[in-house]
Amino acid sequence: MTRSDLLSVADLGREGIVEVLRLADSFAEVSERPMPKVPALRGRTVATVFFESSTRTRLSFEAAAKRLSADTMTFTPATSSLTKGESMRDTVETLDAMGVDAMVVRHASAGAPAQVARWVRASVVNAGDGQHEHPTQALLDCFTLREAIAAREGRAPADDLSGLRIAIVGDVRHSRVARSGVLAYRALGARVVLVAPPTLLPPDTSGWGVETAVDLDEVLGSVDVVYLLRLQVERIRECLLPSLHEYAERFGLTRDRARRLAPEVLVMHPGPMVRGLEIDAEVASSARSLVTRQVHNGVAVRMAVLFRLLAGGRAGAAGASGEGHGAPGAGGVAEAGQ
Ligand code: ASP
Repeated sequence: MTRSDLLSVADLGREGIVEVLRLADSFAEVSERPMPKVPALRGRTVATVFFESSTRTRLSFEAAAKRLSADTMTFTPATSSLTKGESMRDTVETLDAMGVDAMVVRHASAGAPAQVARWVRASVVNAGDGQHEHPTQALLDCFTLREAIAAREGRAPADDLSGLRIAIVGDVRHSRVARSGVLAYRALGARVVLVAPPTLLPPDTSGWGVETAVDLDEVLGSVDVVYLLRLQVERIRECLLPSLHEYAERFGLTRDRARRLAPEVLVMHPGPMVRGLEIDAEVASSARSLVTRQVHNGVAVRMAVLFRLLAGGRAGAAGASGEGHGAPGAGGVAEAGQ
């Protein structure tokens, strides 16, 4: 079996994205069971290797690996030999030598997971690299959107998002969520408008295939989804904003702005949210907000990603369609709970 990685949404293309979403449908069903576990990755080991802090992404990957019956290992830099001067290369090669099958890597530098993939034999999943990409966030966001629209229209989830116009609002310049999101939404046919102060838009978006705007109020009347980004304060080194108060006034989804939205407009945020800055506390918890569904769906989507990367050699195409060895479809049901 040749090793495969997930470093960018571009690695998947439309076909790969749809495959992950359909696999995630089956794994979402597994997650609803009293014993939400299948034996699909029994005997495999998944290590989370986070050089940058995280709550939901790391725990979500660990829950996903456990629900697939994989063994898990957690690497924590603060208590590792990195503090004794060991390099990232030695660290990941050490994990690799222990027989890890997949490394889920987060790093503050763009390209670090790709570099790790060149050093190790294990499959590498990019769990966020600097301001470059965060592919599983984009996948879980697509899954959540398609689920919300299907529920509203009373039909099964469709893989096509064409007809949707999605506003990604805020610190686009420093956002890996925005970069992966644009690739995924466009691959599924949606249109994207980036809304930010000029200082927080990337210097050149000509190759992105998106529109840009600097006035949130002007776009709110013509979008189906408002996706708010966190201000990436840890990556903002220059003075790019007059004040946080002014940012909240002009680019925050305030209660007043939310009241003016059409009832069917959906609101999303990747977390961690700063309530009162990019999104009002009440709006974040309102009926139109998908924030909790995003976190919930993250586990099933990451199960799909790990399964697709690691079970290929054993399950092949049958596994991908949910009917193979240990997959969550017909074959998996019998073995569930083991
Ligand atoms: N949790 C997301 C990330 O790691 C979003 C954020 O931190 O703003 O990129």
